[in-house]
Amino acid sequence: MSLLVTGTVAFDAIETPFGKTDKIIGGAATYVSLAASYFTKQVGLIAVVGDDFPQDYIDLLNQKGIDTSGLQIKSGEKSFFWSGRYFNDMNSRETLITELNVLADFDPIVPEALSAPDYLMLGNLAPVVQSTLISRLSKRPKLVVMDTMNFWMDIALDDLKKTLTMVDVLTINDEEARQLSGEYSLIKASRIIRAMGPKYLIIKKGEHGALLFHEDQVFFAPAMLLEDVFDPTGAGDTFAGGFIGYLASTDDISFENMKRAIIYGSAMASFCVEQFGTDNILNIDPNLLKARVEAFRQLSYVDFLK
Ligand code: AMP
Repeated sequence: MSLLVTGTVAFDAIETPFGKTDKIIGGAATYVSLAASYFTKQVGLIAVVGDDFPQDYIDLLNQKGIDTSGLQIKSGEKSFFWSGRYFNDMNSRETLITELNVLADFDPIVPEALSAPDYLMLGNLAPVVQSTLISRLSKRPKLVVMDTMNFWMDIALDDLKKTLTMVDVLTINDEEARQLSGEYSLIKASRIIRAMGPKYLIIKKGEHGALLFHEDQVFFAPAMLLEDVFDPTGAGDTFAGGFIGYLASTDDISFENMKRAIIYGSAMASFCVEQFGTDNILNIDPNLLKARVEAFRQLSYVDFLK
């Protein structure tokens, strides 16, 4: 099934207790589309960059089968730039710089060939761009998944709430769920957020896993225990790409299948954090992915029948 992805395609500068990078390639849509490309070969990208963005990297996305005909390149302008620093526990970070640059007046133009996706992933970017994109599609996708972050809650809350009424699944982290709902309890927060629109809510808890809420059901998936975590940047987006990529490839949006999709998303995210930036998700061996999914299954499997 076809999948359309939007979000930032960006330069990131990252500081972790293990090191520091200069400007490297990042962006929500970069991570989402790369992760999803392991599951479906019909991934289209709607995004914007400046002419400072390397053509080599766009070629690389194309080699992964990602259709970049909806990636606008603005001459004379600079790509979105984000810089962040992780604290010692690697589970929390602070944003040091957000330069919208080319994103400030992004008008998401959807090429005809990409205008009727079966699945839509609204990666992190301005909520008004996310809702504009939905309104420009020629049919409503089977499933619309949205990601966002505190930055947009701070500066564009009304737009964000409007976009929330148009989506099926929201993925955010625990801190953002608390900010959006004004509730500390994640169960109460999940009810308040689902009343804003999305029937499904995924709350990401970094190294502590992820929760999926729907009606009165809750599913919890742990995160993979890793010896070394170098850089958590993009883990949430890689998770989302694996999640929606798996759903698109199986074309089954039941709660049961969403549980599997969460495990695939978590497995993809576990690869992401093992290296800086997108390095580790450019070439994941399918056998390693299979082994990691199996390791996830074992992590919390208990046979009560014996
Ligand atoms: P994650 O670690 O999954 O939350 O995503 C990190 C990625 O999000 C980085 O590659 C950034 O370029 C991108 N990013 C950071 N801030 C924003 C923002 N305000 N809007 C959209 N993308 C952002």
